[in-house]
Amino acid sequence: MKTIGILTSGGDAPGMNAAIRAVVRTALDKGLKVMGIQRGYSGLINGEIFEMNRHSVSDIIHRGGTILRTARCEEFRTEEGRKRAAKVLKVFGIDGLVVIGGDGSFTGARLLSELGVSAVGIPGTIDNDLAYTQYTIGFDTALNTVLDAINKIRDTSTSHERVSVVEVMGRNCGDIALYAGLAGGAESVIIPEKGYNLNELCRNILEGKLRGKMHNLIVLAEGVGGAEELAKKIEEVTGIITRATILGHIQRGGSPSAFDRVLAARLGAKAIEVLLEGKKARVVGIRDGKVIDQDINEALSTKREFDEELFDIARALSY
Ligand code: ATP
Repeated sequence: MKTIGILTSGGDAPGMNAAIRAVVRTALDKGLKVMGIQRGYSGLINGEIFEMNRHSVSDIIHRGGTILRTARCEEFRTEEGRKRAAKVLKVFGIDGLVVIGGDGSFTGARLLSELGVSAVGIPGTIDNDLAYTQYTIGFDTALNTVLDAINKIRDTSTSHERVSVVEVMGRNCGDIALYAGLAGGAESVIIPEKGYNLNELCRNILEGKLRGKMHNLIVLAEGVGGAEELAKKIEEVTGIITRATILGHIQRGGSPSAFDRVLAARLGAKAIEVLLEGKKARVVGIRDGKVIDQDINEALSTKREFDEELFDIARALSY
């Protein structure tokens, strides 16, 4: 292996830049040439490729987003598009590809590896929805952003003695909601893995009010439904003013946390090690504090194990 390519794909996540830096500098340290591919698979197909050096990744470790930009690429979903992508890699002499992204991007990398490309995936998504790894890069930062918002919403919720529904990201994974709800002392956490019962929820709110609770914070994962709709339903049943806050894209931006930066460094270094070992279709991740690599097919078919214990702790501490 002489030359590697690197791209970021799918939704951006804080810590992607730290991962790019880790990949580029580790590769250069091992004597490899590094080519940066802009705008994910779209830039790959269009040949938006440039050589990177140590300086290319200077001053980015603390920045959110991705200096390589990211994109969603429909053409890459077709076999013809992927064949073009494989050809472009050959033209640029790239014999190993690092893909930083979520499950969709990994599926793309898996299909590309079927065309003979050596690819390795680094999990970069705030959703934490990749079952094979305990944490994805960006999750911890997003979690802290949500926590900061919850702390602020709690102040106003208490002052006005209102119910607050805070909608957070995570697609079909409830981790952001569960961890933020637990860390922020929310009264209820509503996540796709568990669903909810409106009558039970409203009963908790009314009982809390009778016990003298000044506020009631409900953290709602986007995969369950909309905050506005839920707030309306709660207000109808309880008669208590209920406000909805949709945190939206602030969860995807911002300077990565120390945890995400360290994770990015470890996974970036591992990705290069995996390529140098000649492995073809792998992903890297973290389990029980140890950096691991795994076959991409196996990783994508791993079923998520929901952390019932954590959910139960959040419930027990909530009233
Ligand atoms: P996030 O979890 O942050 O949304 P993601 O990687 O899952 O990130 P997607 O939009 O699902 O984001 O995928 C990114 C890109 O990967 C797509 O635009 C497409 O180019 C490629 N891709 C996704 N799924 C497939 C697939 N089934 N076949 C081929 N390519 C795919």
